[in-house]
Amino acid sequence: QVKRDGGGARLYDEASDPHDEAQLGLLAQLRVGIEQGQLLLDYQPKVELRTGVTVGFEALVRWEHPTRGRLGPDVFIPLAERTALMRPLTAWVLREAARECARWRSEGRDLSVAVNITPRTLLEPDLAGQVARLLADAGLPGEALELEITETAVMVDPVRAAQTLRELRAIGVGVAIDDFGAGYTSLSYLKSLPVRSLKIDRGFVTHLVDNREDEAVARSVVALGHDLGLTVVAEGVETEEAQARLRELGCDEVQGYLLARPLPSAEVDAWLQRTGP
Ligand code: C2E
Ligand code: CA
Ligand code: CA
Ligand code: CA
Repeated sequence: QVKRDGGGARLYDEASDPHDEAQLGLLAQLRVGIEQGQLLLDYQPKVELRTGVTVGFEALVRWEHPTRGRLGPDVFIPLAERTALMRPLTAWVLREAARECARWRSEGRDLSVAVNITPRTLLEPDLAGQVARLLADAGLPGEALELEITETAVMVDPVRAAQTLRELRAIGVGVAIDDFGAGYTSLSYLKSLPVRSLKIDRGFVTHLVDNREDEAVARSVVALGHDLGLTVVAEGVETEEAQARLRELGCDEVQGYLLARPLPSAEVDAWLQRTGP
């Protein structure tokens, strides 16, 4: 988790010190790995609760490390985020996700792909310009891409973040606030941000059914989101009970192991044949 103090937010997780020798080694390997095509994406479906129809997929990066086997993003994203490597990594993820989404849509399906964007990337100059170019290259409309950001980026530099979000909206790209409820975004500030959806943090969804406080948070996020005209998504839905409760609360979309784990791209077509639009 990103450390906070005095209400401010810091960009980087200090637990992963890039000066540590092992971490430096891993970074060097990651640089080579990106160039040599060792990264891959899995895709987790987002399903509309009311209809059971898949509306899109979240792209989740993995690293096929030559000796350590497959590594999850928690091992290398926080590390890369502290270095200039985050830029080529995100560029690769965006390109690959756009390419894949264009393939799904070429079969006439109205689907979007969501990509996770770290604070460093959101605050980069000209993110929207970069995104516009890659959408054009992939032949995709802005609506086909969603960026998932966390509250941290917005807290670190609210003016810059809001400017980038407006530019993204202007090209039709949707923005979701990820892990919502876990951070400290002021609710009045949220009102002024051009975002399309809120994702209820998995931490509140896991014990939704047996923890009253968690249910209260989920209920509030749904109410707040709907008051602001946003779509509310629950992530980490693992049980029928949690899904039923989310339906009662009026949550719009769900994602989680109950419906599907993140799928290799080769399994997306079979998934769509069953639940696609
Ligand atoms: P996230 O954005 O909150 O993504 C959701 C994580 O929860 C994913 O872990 C997903 O596999 C996992 N998950 C989904 N459904 C369930 C469930 O029902 N139960 C449980 N226990 N877990 C579930 P993953 O793939 O390991 O990704 C971890 C984090 O790494 C992501 O959290 C995201 O912050 C980051 N990440 C993943 N891919 C990328 C990427 O391409 N770029 C960036 N910047 N960050 C990424
Ligand atoms: Ca996410
Ligand atoms: Ca999340
Ligand atoms: Ca998370």
